[in-house]
Amino acid sequence: MSVANGRAFLATPGPTNIPDRVLQAMMRPAEELSSATIVNLTESVLDDLKQIFRTTGETFVYTANGHGGWEAALSNVLSRGDKVLVLASGRFAVGWGEMAHFMGAEVEVLAGTWRRAVDPAAVEERLRQDTRHEIKAVLMVQIDTASGVVNDVPAVRKALDAVGHPALFMVDGVASVGCMPFEMDAWGIDVAMSASQKGLMSSPGLAFVAANEKAMQAHQTATMKTLYWDWSSRMNTLAYMKHCGTAPEHLLFGQRAALDMILSEGLEAVWKRHELLAGATHAAVSKWIEGQALAFNIPEPSQRAPSVTTILTQGVEAATITDHARDICGVTLGLGIGELTGKAFRIAHMGHVNAPMVLGALGAVEMTLQAKGIPHGSGGVAAAVAFLAEGVR
Ligand SMILES: *Cc1c(COP(=O)(O)O)cnc(C)c1O
Repeated sequence: MSVANGRAFLATPGPTNIPDRVLQAMMRPAEELSSATIVNLTESVLDDLKQIFRTTGETFVYTANGHGGWEAALSNVLSRGDKVLVLASGRFAVGWGEMAHFMGAEVEVLAGTWRRAVDPAAVEERLRQDTRHEIKAVLMVQIDTASGVVNDVPAVRKALDAVGHPALFMVDGVASVGCMPFEMDAWGIDVAMSASQKGLMSSPGLAFVAANEKAMQAHQTATMKTLYWDWSSRMNTLAYMKHCGTAPEHLLFGQRAALDMILSEGLEAVWKRHELLAGATHAAVSKWIEGQALAFNIPEPSQRAPSVTTILTQGVEAATITDHARDICGVTLGLGIGELTGKAFRIAHMGHVNAPMVLGALGAVEMTLQAKGIPHGSGGVAAAVAFLAEGVR
Protein backbone atom coordinates (compact mmCIF):
# COMPACT_ATOMS: atom_id res chain seq x y z
CA MET A 1 0.00 0.00 0.00
CA SER A 2 1.04 3.59 -0.57
CA VAL A 3 0.01 6.89 0.94
CA ALA A 4 2.17 8.89 -1.45
CA ASN A 5 -0.46 10.65 -3.52
CA GLY A 6 -1.13 14.27 -2.66
CA ARG A 7 1.26 17.19 -2.93
CA ALA A 8 4.73 15.85 -3.72
CA PHE A 9 7.27 16.90 -1.09
CA LEU A 10 10.75 17.75 -2.22
CA ALA A 11 13.25 17.44 0.62
CA THR A 12 16.30 17.42 -1.66
CA PRO A 13 19.10 19.96 -1.20
CA GLY A 14 18.53 21.39 -4.63
CA PRO A 15 16.44 21.88 -6.47
CA THR A 16 14.12 22.95 -3.68
CA ASN A 17 10.40 23.69 -3.51
CA ILE A 18 9.42 26.51 -5.84
CA PRO A 19 6.70 28.73 -4.30
CA ASP A 20 3.43 28.93 -6.27
CA ARG A 21 3.93 32.70 -6.50
CA VAL A 22 7.25 32.14 -8.26
CA LEU A 23 5.73 29.62 -10.67
CA GLN A 24 2.90 32.02 -11.46
CA ALA A 25 5.30 34.88 -12.07
CA MET A 26 6.86 32.82 -14.86
CA MET A 27 3.54 32.15 -16.62
CA ARG A 28 3.60 35.10 -19.01
CA PRO A 29 4.52 35.88 -22.56
CA ALA A 30 8.09 36.63 -23.62
CA GLU A 31 8.92 40.27 -24.26
CA GLU A 32 11.10 42.19 -26.65
CA LEU A 33 14.53 41.66 -25.16
CA SER A 34 15.45 45.26 -24.53
CA SER A 35 11.99 46.42 -23.48
CA ALA A 36 11.78 48.62 -20.40
CA THR A 37 10.24 45.68 -18.54
CA ILE A 38 13.26 43.44 -19.15
CA VAL A 39 15.84 46.20 -18.59
CA ASN A 40 14.21 47.15 -15.28
CA LEU A 41 13.77 43.54 -14.28
CA THR A 42 17.48 42.88 -14.77
CA GLU A 43 18.45 46.04 -12.89
CA SER A 44 16.17 45.24 -9.98
CA VAL A 45 17.47 41.68 -9.63
CA LEU A 46 21.11 42.88 -9.79
CA ASP A 47 20.32 45.54 -7.16
CA ASP A 48 18.52 43.22 -4.79
CA LEU A 49 21.28 40.63 -5.04
CA LYS A 50 23.47 43.20 -3.28
CA GLN A 51 21.11 43.01 -0.31
CA ILE A 52 21.15 39.23 -0.44
CA PHE A 53 24.97 38.98 -0.57
CA ARG A 54 25.25 42.02 1.76
CA THR A 55 27.63 43.88 -0.48
CA THR A 56 28.07 47.23 -2.12
CA GLY A 57 30.18 45.50 -4.80
CA GLU A 58 29.14 44.52 -8.32
CA THR A 59 26.63 41.73 -8.94
CA PHE A 60 26.23 39.57 -12.05
CA VAL A 61 23.50 37.20 -13.25
CA TYR A 62 24.23 34.30 -15.58
CA THR A 63 22.01 31.87 -17.43
CA ALA A 64 23.73 28.91 -15.80
CA ASN A 65 23.57 26.56 -12.86
CA GLY A 66 25.94 26.69 -9.89
CA HIS A 67 28.74 25.11 -11.90
CA GLY A 68 28.43 27.98 -14.36
CA GLY A 69 28.67 30.38 -11.42
CA TRP A 70 31.90 28.67 -10.40
CA GLU A 71 33.35 29.15 -13.87
CA ALA A 72 32.18 32.76 -13.98
CA ALA A 73 33.85 33.51 -10.66
CA LEU A 74 37.16 31.85 -11.56
CA SER A 75 37.50 33.06 -15.13
CA ASN A 76 37.11 36.71 -14.19
CA VAL A 77 39.90 36.92 -11.62
CA LEU A 78 42.47 34.22 -12.43
CA SER A 79 45.16 33.77 -15.03
CA ARG A 80 46.43 30.48 -16.43
CA GLY A 81 49.06 29.01 -14.12
CA ASP A 82 47.78 30.83 -11.02
CA LYS A 83 47.82 28.74 -7.91
CA VAL A 84 44.59 28.33 -5.93
CA LEU A 85 44.13 26.76 -2.52
CA VAL A 86 40.94 24.72 -2.12
CA LEU A 87 39.66 24.09 1.41
CA ALA A 88 38.12 20.61 1.41
CA SER A 89 35.22 19.69 3.69
CA GLY A 90 33.16 17.45 1.45
CA ARG A 91 32.38 17.44 -2.25
CA PHE A 92 31.78 20.95 -3.42
CA ALA A 93 34.93 23.01 -2.78
CA VAL A 94 36.86 20.13 -4.35
CA GLY A 95 34.51 20.25 -7.35
CA TRP A 96 35.14 23.97 -7.72
CA GLY A 97 38.87 23.22 -7.62
CA GLU A 98 38.48 20.57 -10.34
CA MET A 99 36.92 23.25 -12.48
CA ALA A 100 39.82 25.61 -11.77
CA HIS A 101 42.24 22.85 -12.79
CA PHE A 102 40.38 22.32 -16.06
CA MET A 103 40.65 26.04 -16.73
CA GLY A 104 44.41 26.06 -16.31
CA ALA A 105 44.96 26.92 -12.66
CA GLU A 106 47.39 25.06 -10.46
CA VAL A 107 45.21 23.59 -7.74
CA GLU A 108 46.26 22.60 -4.25
CA VAL A 109 43.69 20.98 -2.00
CA LEU A 110 44.10 21.52 1.73
CA ALA A 111 42.96 18.12 2.92
CA GLY A 112 39.88 17.92 5.06
CA THR A 113 37.42 15.23 6.01
CA TRP A 114 33.74 14.77 5.26
CA ARG A 115 33.00 14.73 8.99
CA ARG A 116 34.27 18.15 10.07
CA ALA A 117 34.42 21.80 9.13
CA VAL A 118 37.51 23.38 7.59
CA ASP A 119 40.07 24.08 10.32
CA PRO A 120 41.02 27.79 10.19
CA ALA A 121 44.29 27.07 12.03
CA ALA A 122 45.35 24.68 9.26
CA VAL A 123 44.52 27.33 6.66
CA GLU A 124 46.59 29.89 8.56
CA GLU A 125 49.51 27.49 8.81
CA ARG A 126 49.45 26.70 5.08
CA LEU A 127 49.25 30.37 4.13
CA ARG A 128 52.08 31.25 6.49
CA GLN A 129 54.35 28.90 4.52
CA ASP A 130 53.46 30.69 1.31
CA THR A 131 55.93 33.51 1.91
CA ARG A 132 56.20 34.26 -1.82
CA HIS A 133 52.43 34.66 -2.11
CA GLU A 134 52.14 32.15 -4.91
CA ILE A 135 48.58 31.34 -3.86
CA LYS A 136 46.35 33.77 -5.73
CA ALA A 137 42.98 32.66 -4.43
CA VAL A 138 41.48 30.65 -1.57
CA LEU A 139 38.31 28.73 -2.51
CA MET A 140 35.83 27.52 0.08
CA VAL A 141 32.16 26.65 0.47
CA GLN A 142 30.12 27.98 3.34
CA ILE A 143 27.89 24.90 3.43
CA ASP A 144 28.97 21.66 1.83
CA THR A 145 25.73 20.14 0.65
CA ALA A 146 27.18 16.62 0.46
CA SER A 147 28.63 16.36 3.97
CA GLY A 148 26.13 18.73 5.57
CA VAL A 149 28.84 20.78 7.22
CA VAL A 150 28.82 24.53 7.77
CA ASN A 151 32.22 26.19 7.59
CA ASP A 152 33.17 29.29 9.55
CA VAL A 153 33.75 31.87 6.82
CA PRO A 154 34.81 34.80 9.06
CA ALA A 155 37.28 32.54 10.89
CA VAL A 156 38.94 31.60 7.59
CA ARG A 157 39.07 35.30 6.64
CA LYS A 158 40.86 35.92 9.95
CA ALA A 159 43.36 33.22 9.02
CA LEU A 160 44.22 35.11 5.81
CA ASP A 161 44.48 38.37 7.73
CA ALA A 162 46.58 36.86 10.51
CA VAL A 163 49.40 36.22 8.02
CA GLY A 164 48.61 39.25 5.86
CA HIS A 165 48.05 37.02 2.84
CA PRO A 166 46.88 38.90 -0.26
CA ALA A 167 45.06 35.98 -1.96
CA LEU A 168 41.51 36.58 -3.15
CA PHE A 169 38.97 35.04 -0.80
CA MET A 170 36.28 33.28 -2.86
CA VAL A 171 33.21 31.75 -1.24
CA ASP A 172 30.54 29.43 -2.64
CA GLY A 173 27.21 30.25 -1.02
CA VAL A 174 24.99 28.05 -3.19
CA ALA A 175 23.58 26.10 -0.23
CA SER A 176 23.81 28.92 2.31
CA VAL A 177 22.86 32.28 0.80
CA GLY A 178 19.26 32.86 1.80
CA CYS A 179 19.55 30.20 4.54
CA MET A 180 21.98 31.69 7.07
CA PRO A 181 24.03 34.82 7.66
CA PHE A 182 26.24 35.63 4.68
CA GLU A 183 28.02 38.97 5.00
CA MET A 184 30.14 39.49 1.93
CA ASP A 185 31.50 42.93 2.84
CA ALA A 186 31.67 42.57 6.62
CA TRP A 187 33.48 39.24 6.30
CA GLY A 188 35.94 40.42 3.65
CA ILE A 189 34.81 38.05 0.91
CA ASP A 190 36.24 39.17 -2.43
CA VAL A 191 34.16 36.97 -4.75
CA ALA A 192 30.91 35.29 -3.75
CA MET A 193 28.68 33.08 -5.85
CA SER A 194 25.32 31.36 -5.54
CA ALA A 195 22.51 29.94 -7.64
CA SER A 196 18.75 30.28 -7.96
CA GLN A 197 17.46 26.84 -6.99
CA LYS A 198 18.34 26.36 -3.34
CA GLY A 199 17.91 28.99 -0.64
CA LEU A 200 16.86 31.48 -3.30
CA MET A 201 13.67 29.49 -4.00
CA SER A 202 13.53 29.73 -7.75
CA SER A 203 13.92 27.58 -10.83
CA PRO A 204 17.31 26.03 -11.56
CA GLY A 205 19.06 28.02 -14.29
CA LEU A 206 20.46 31.24 -12.82
CA ALA A 207 23.87 31.72 -11.25
CA PHE A 208 24.84 34.81 -9.28
CA VAL A 209 28.30 36.24 -8.67
CA ALA A 210 29.31 39.25 -6.58
CA ALA A 211 32.69 40.95 -6.69
CA ASN A 212 34.29 43.63 -4.54
CA GLU A 213 36.83 46.27 -5.51
CA LYS A 214 39.80 43.96 -4.97
CA ALA A 215 38.23 41.34 -7.25
CA MET A 216 37.54 44.00 -9.89
CA GLN A 217 41.24 44.93 -9.72
CA ALA A 218 42.27 41.32 -10.28
CA HIS A 219 39.79 41.19 -13.15
CA GLN A 220 41.73 43.86 -15.04
CA THR A 221 44.69 41.54 -15.58
CA ALA A 222 43.04 38.08 -15.51
CA THR A 223 43.75 35.97 -18.60
CA MET A 224 41.16 33.26 -18.06
CA LYS A 225 38.44 35.67 -19.16
CA THR A 226 36.03 34.56 -21.87
CA LEU A 227 33.36 36.75 -23.37
CA TYR A 228 30.31 34.96 -22.01
CA TRP A 229 31.38 35.31 -18.36
CA ASP A 230 33.27 38.59 -18.71
CA TRP A 231 32.37 41.15 -16.06
CA SER A 232 33.57 44.17 -18.07
CA SER A 233 31.21 43.46 -20.96
CA ARG A 234 28.37 42.78 -18.58
CA MET A 235 28.91 46.19 -16.97
CA ASN A 236 28.35 47.73 -20.40
CA THR A 237 25.47 50.18 -20.49
CA LEU A 238 23.81 48.21 -23.30
CA ALA A 239 21.07 46.12 -21.70
CA TYR A 240 21.74 43.32 -24.16
CA MET A 241 25.29 42.93 -22.84
CA LYS A 242 24.13 42.45 -19.24
CA HIS A 243 23.30 38.89 -20.25
CA CYS A 244 25.74 38.54 -23.17
CA GLY A 245 22.69 37.86 -25.28
CA THR A 246 19.00 37.36 -24.69
CA ALA A 247 17.93 37.66 -21.08
CA PRO A 248 16.62 34.49 -19.42
CA GLU A 249 13.34 36.36 -19.07
CA HIS A 250 11.18 33.81 -17.32
CA LEU A 251 13.87 32.76 -14.91
CA LEU A 252 14.29 36.43 -14.02
CA PHE A 253 10.54 36.92 -13.52
CA GLY A 254 10.56 33.92 -11.21
CA GLN A 255 13.63 35.06 -9.31
CA ARG A 256 12.14 38.55 -8.97
CA ALA A 257 9.10 37.05 -7.21
CA ALA A 258 11.30 34.89 -4.98
CA LEU A 259 13.43 37.89 -3.99
CA ASP A 260 10.26 39.82 -3.17
CA MET A 261 9.16 36.99 -0.89
CA ILE A 262 12.55 36.75 0.84
CA LEU A 263 12.95 40.49 1.31
CA SER A 264 9.40 40.97 2.58
CA GLU A 265 9.87 38.18 5.13
CA GLY A 266 13.19 39.86 5.99
CA LEU A 267 16.57 38.17 5.57
CA GLU A 268 17.10 37.86 9.33
CA ALA A 269 13.69 36.22 9.72
CA VAL A 270 14.49 33.86 6.85
CA TRP A 271 17.75 32.86 8.55
CA LYS A 272 15.95 32.35 11.87
CA ARG A 273 13.31 30.17 10.20
CA HIS A 274 16.07 27.99 8.78
CA GLU A 275 17.78 27.79 12.15
CA LEU A 276 14.56 26.62 13.81
CA LEU A 277 13.69 24.06 11.15
CA ALA A 278 17.26 22.72 11.20
CA GLY A 279 17.09 22.47 14.97
CA ALA A 280 13.84 20.51 14.69
CA THR A 281 15.47 18.13 12.22
CA HIS A 282 18.49 17.66 14.46
CA ALA A 283 16.19 16.98 17.44
CA ALA A 284 14.44 14.21 15.50
CA VAL A 285 17.67 12.67 14.23
CA SER A 286 19.14 12.78 17.75
CA LYS A 287 16.34 10.42 18.84
CA TRP A 288 16.58 8.13 15.82
CA ILE A 289 20.33 7.55 16.22
CA GLU A 290 19.73 5.90 19.59
CA GLY A 291 18.94 2.76 17.57
CA GLN A 292 22.56 2.72 16.24
CA ALA A 293 21.52 2.18 12.62
CA LEU A 294 21.72 5.90 11.82
CA ALA A 295 24.28 8.56 12.72
CA PHE A 296 24.91 12.24 12.07
CA ASN A 297 27.59 12.63 9.42
CA ILE A 298 28.74 15.74 11.28
CA PRO A 299 29.28 14.70 14.91
CA GLU A 300 29.90 18.25 16.20
CA PRO A 301 26.45 19.91 16.58
CA SER A 302 27.71 23.46 15.96
CA GLN A 303 29.11 22.36 12.57
CA ARG A 304 25.79 21.00 11.26
CA ALA A 305 24.42 23.07 8.42
CA PRO A 306 21.15 24.98 8.85
CA SER A 307 20.01 24.01 5.34
CA VAL A 308 20.68 20.27 4.99
CA THR A 309 21.31 17.33 7.34
CA THR A 310 23.35 14.35 6.17
CA ILE A 311 22.53 11.09 7.96
CA LEU A 312 24.75 8.01 7.73
CA THR A 313 23.10 4.61 7.45
CA GLN A 314 25.00 1.82 9.15
CA GLY A 315 24.17 -1.75 8.09
CA VAL A 316 21.20 -0.46 6.08
CA GLU A 317 21.15 0.45 2.40
CA ALA A 318 20.31 4.16 2.25
CA ALA A 319 18.08 3.43 -0.75
CA THR A 320 15.83 1.28 1.47
CA ILE A 321 14.94 4.49 3.29
CA THR A 322 14.85 6.93 0.38
CA ASP A 323 12.85 4.57 -1.91
CA HIS A 324 10.26 3.92 0.77
CA ALA A 325 9.99 7.57 1.74
CA ARG A 326 9.43 8.53 -1.90
CA ASP A 327 7.24 5.70 -3.18
CA ILE A 328 5.18 4.96 -0.09
CA CYS A 329 5.17 8.28 1.79
CA GLY A 330 5.51 10.87 -1.00
CA VAL A 331 8.67 12.59 0.28
CA THR A 332 11.76 12.81 -1.92
CA LEU A 333 14.89 12.86 0.24
CA GLY A 334 18.42 13.63 -0.92
CA LEU A 335 20.70 10.67 -1.66
CA GLY A 336 24.25 10.42 -0.37
CA ILE A 337 26.70 11.61 -3.02
CA GLY A 338 30.44 11.25 -3.60
CA GLU A 339 32.04 9.05 -0.97
CA LEU A 340 28.68 8.75 0.80
CA THR A 341 26.89 7.21 -2.20
CA GLY A 342 24.65 4.44 -0.86
CA LYS A 343 25.79 5.13 2.69
CA ALA A 344 23.76 8.18 3.63
CA PHE A 345 20.64 10.15 2.93
CA ARG A 346 20.02 13.84 3.29
CA ILE A 347 17.08 15.82 4.56
CA ALA A 348 16.97 19.32 3.10
CA HIS A 349 15.36 22.08 5.14
CA MET A 350 16.24 24.81 2.72
CA GLY A 351 14.42 27.60 0.93
CA HIS A 352 10.62 27.62 0.74
CA VAL A 353 9.97 25.39 3.76
CA ASN A 354 7.86 25.75 6.86
CA ALA A 355 6.97 23.70 9.92
CA PRO A 356 4.42 21.36 8.28
CA MET A 357 6.78 20.64 5.37
CA VAL A 358 9.73 19.78 7.59
CA LEU A 359 7.61 17.94 10.15
CA GLY A 360 5.99 16.09 7.25
CA ALA A 361 9.36 15.03 5.88
CA LEU A 362 10.52 13.96 9.34
CA GLY A 363 7.25 12.07 9.85
CA ALA A 364 7.79 10.23 6.58
CA VAL A 365 11.32 9.22 7.60
CA GLU A 366 10.13 8.02 10.99
CA MET A 367 7.28 6.11 9.35
CA THR A 368 9.83 4.54 6.99
CA LEU A 369 12.12 3.50 9.85
CA GLN A 370 9.17 1.80 11.53
CA ALA A 371 7.80 0.17 8.38
CA LYS A 372 11.21 -1.18 7.41
CA GLY A 373 12.09 -2.38 10.90
CA ILE A 374 15.21 -0.19 11.02
CA PRO A 375 16.34 0.18 14.65
CA HIS A 376 15.79 3.72 15.88
CA GLY A 377 15.00 5.57 19.05
CA SER A 378 11.33 6.55 19.16
CA GLY A 379 9.88 10.01 19.51
CA GLY A 380 11.91 11.78 16.84
CA VAL A 381 8.99 13.73 15.43
CA ALA A 382 7.73 14.53 18.94
CA ALA A 383 11.17 15.92 19.76
CA ALA A 384 11.07 18.07 16.61
CA VAL A 385 7.63 19.40 17.55
CA ALA A 386 8.80 20.17 21.08
CA PHE A 387 11.88 21.96 19.73
CA LEU A 388 9.78 24.14 17.45
CA ALA A 389 7.16 24.86 20.08
CA GLU A 390 9.90 26.15 22.37
CA GLY A 391 11.78 27.91 19.57
CA VAL A 392 8.88 30.05 18.34
CA ARG A 393 7.89 31.18 21.82
C1 LIG B 1 24.31 22.55 -5.55
C2 LIG B 1 25.64 23.13 -5.27
C3 LIG B 1 26.53 23.50 -6.28
C4 LIG B 1 26.29 23.20 -7.73
O1 LIG B 1 25.14 23.77 -8.22
P1 LIG B 1 24.54 23.23 -9.61
O2 LIG B 1 23.42 24.19 -9.86
O3 LIG B 1 24.09 21.83 -9.37
O4 LIG B 1 25.60 23.31 -10.63
C5 LIG B 1 27.71 24.13 -5.93
N1 LIG B 1 28.02 24.34 -4.65
C6 LIG B 1 27.19 23.98 -3.64
C7 LIG B 1 27.60 24.25 -2.23
C8 LIG B 1 25.99 23.35 -3.92
O5 LIG B 1 25.19 22.98 -2.92
